[in-house]
Amino acid sequence: MAKIRPLRPNATLGTHLLSILTEILARPLREKLDLVTFGDMLRHYPRRYVQRGELTDLGSLQIGEEATAMVEVASVRHTDAALKKDRKRKLHIVDVVVTDGRGQLSLKFFNQPWRKHQINVGMRALVAGKVETYRGQLQLTHPDFVTLTDDPEYDENLAEGFAGRLMPIYPSTTAVPTWTIARIIRHVLDGLRVLPDPIPPDVRERHGLPALRDAYFALHRPADWDDVKLARKRFRFEEAFVLQTELARRRSAARELPAVPRVARADGLLAAFDARLPFELTDGQQEVGTSITADLARDHPMQRLLQGEVGSGKTVCAIRAMLTVVDVGGQAALLAPTEVLAQQHHRSITQMLGPLAERGFIGGAEDGTRVVLLTGSQSTAVRRKALLEVASGAAGLVVGTHALLEDKVQFADLGLVVIDEQHRFGVEQRAALTAKTDGAPPHVLVMTATPIPRTVAMTVFGDLEVSTLTELPRGRASIQTSVVPVTDRPAWLDRVWLRVREEVATGRQAYVVCPRIGDDGPEEEIVEPDGTRPPVLKLIQGGLSRTRAPSSRAEAVALIDLAAALAEGPLAGLRVEVLHGRLPSDAKDSVMRKFAAGEIDVLVATTVIEVGVDVPNASTMVVMDADWFGVSQLHQLRGRIGRGAHPGLCLLVTGAETGSPARTRLDAVASTSDGFELSRLDLEQRREGDVLGADQSGRRSSLRMLSVIRDEAVIQDARTEASAVVEQDPELRSHPALQEAVRALYEDDRADYLEKT
Ligand code: ADP
Ligand code: MG
Repeated sequence: MAKIRPLRPNATLGTHLLSILTEILARPLREKLDLVTFGDMLRHYPRRYVQRGELTDLGSLQIGEEATAMVEVASVRHTDAALKKDRKRKLHIVDVVVTDGRGQLSLKFFNQPWRKHQINVGMRALVAGKVETYRGQLQLTHPDFVTLTDDPEYDENLAEGFAGRLMPIYPSTTAVPTWTIARIIRHVLDGLRVLPDPIPPDVRERHGLPALRDAYFALHRPADWDDVKLARKRFRFEEAFVLQTELARRRSAARELPAVPRVARADGLLAAFDARLPFELTDGQQEVGTSITADLARDHPMQRLLQGEVGSGKTVCAIRAMLTVVDVGGQAALLAPTEVLAQQHHRSITQMLGPLAERGFIGGAEDGTRVVLLTGSQSTAVRRKALLEVASGAAGLVVGTHALLEDKVQFADLGLVVIDEQHRFGVEQRAALTAKTDGAPPHVLVMTATPIPRTVAMTVFGDLEVSTLTELPRGRASIQTSVVPVTDRPAWLDRVWLRVREEVATGRQAYVVCPRIGDDGPEEEIVEPDGTRPPVLKLIQGGLSRTRAPSSRAEAVALIDLAAALAEGPLAGLRVEVLHGRLPSDAKDSVMRKFAAGEIDVLVATTVIEVGVDVPNASTMVVMDADWFGVSQLHQLRGRIGRGAHPGLCLLVTGAETGSPARTRLDAVASTSDGFELSRLDLEQRREGDVLGADQSGRRSSLRMLSVIRDEAVIQDARTEASAVVEQDPELRSHPALQEAVRALYEDDRADYLEKT
């Protein structure tokens, strides 16, 4: 093979070249492994390493996988069989049995008599192929077979990819086996000269990281395990560092934007609101209030994330921030993910403000304001009036759903945007709302529906400052959660309805949540937990009994059927009503009002009540086919109860078998009420890509070595260093390689998640 000239990492495989080898392989490399440039090759990290002299544990092979294993040949047998069709033609079969010292694997080659000269008992080799079973025995048919000796020098001639003691095993395909990849990478490495390094030398030094070129060598051609460790450490840091640089750049760009300072007044609506509050703010709420007040008083827009446990009282913090802005003549918008929640916010804000929310009405306070609701399903007349009040500035507080984002909605002086329960809104919405003023962009406060681990917050919401409410208000009763496995114990379901009756008898109220509405209409979106569908429950004559494993959500318990069955059967005599997304807007509003006023005993609902709904007298929740919901979603749902002084009881009814993944998930939810813990668990069960919102197509993510769940310390260090670099040099003029790496984040659209947060 020809000696190659120095390569530019972004040179395309197959065009520059080097050799016929890459030219032929350029296509499978591109199509099967998404490797296009030499830089891609260098970043095609080994999945693992095989240590020369150490045999691979054959017990670890998985049927169906493309495996590479270091083995020893135990026996070789050549046979000639006559073909059935044509007796004159012979089929030559080589049967090789290889071993790791314990287990065995059989290799089969057809019509390759020359293998006689290649394969001998006792020799060591690397074999690669797709693992199959034949008569109960693991087998590779026509595997790739490369002999290895204990002498790396000798092997260098045989298989150039495996020159060292530690041999890298790459993600590969049949068309391009791991040693071919190793070989190409060797050539690329040989052609490397000085490489511009995105990590500045002083940063590398502080964290003991090798330079880029050294790290590539250490990773692809390690002398020992320490090399591998060091290289991995570097690339992990680099991924975190590049991403954090971009996030720091965004924070600094936002700090440069002008905003109208909204300096809190001591004698306005906020003070009046605080005086009317029926409770004391928690220490956490006060602290958050102080940070927000300080942010609002600056002449750059606030970009703050407020997260906290379900029920920790985020809404009050948001309303206080909104009133701060209204107090000095600005407007504040509150964006809620569902109509039910928007309506509730509107009701409770109006109620808490009392006469202060009725400026312009008889009996309203002179220095008050108006609270306006904007949703998609309002009548034209109501909507027109609302739009007018928003545009004229008469309405200081505007509450709404995504309808707020429409072009028609114009504000007189929008000073603050609050996004409640963020998980339903993306960055585009944030941008759409902040574009609603002619002048300076408004301050922004984002609240999350689910507590998220710190590292995820730093990554996914890395352009925001984060405040966290850790404590729940005092006097909150606890919630007990139990899994009710009706597959094993059908009779337990009757007990569930009895418990509901008992609670109602003591004056409490209950929710019954169903995964679908039924009746063949459009269903609401539900976050599906994973691919494993356990048996669902089905309605049978007023009761429920278990059935066989279902194939679709269509077989899960339907709200409409269940509500009817409950009202006639186990809950007869109680006031049972339904709430779901297909009801008209005013029907939803009136059902929620009645439920909040205690005029409904049992509310049979879909996930429309998942977030934010706040009725302190509700003490019991029954979730039907609970396995249909994700961990975080269940935690949110159960946050609807135990909001007052009454202990909560949450019953997760499921047909999932003991030990199944779905059941394990439910047991986890039942075992802890710590939302941070659960969201960690939730994230661990999903793929990293999902966490970051990257697509599912298996495209490479720019985070390949870094785990946002595991590498907290790395992310923290990278964030500190990146902020310092950006502080000094916001345009990264003196860091061209870093600038390039940040640009590449976008170019490859590998960082979709940057757009989605
Ligand atoms: P979340 O953080 O989940 O959005 P909410 O803001 O809906 O929680 O608050 C949950 C409940 O706690 C509401 O009924 C609210 O009025 C009440 N609450 C908020 N702060 C306090 C407090 N400091 N003391 C007592 N109750 C409070
Ligand atoms: Mg809330």
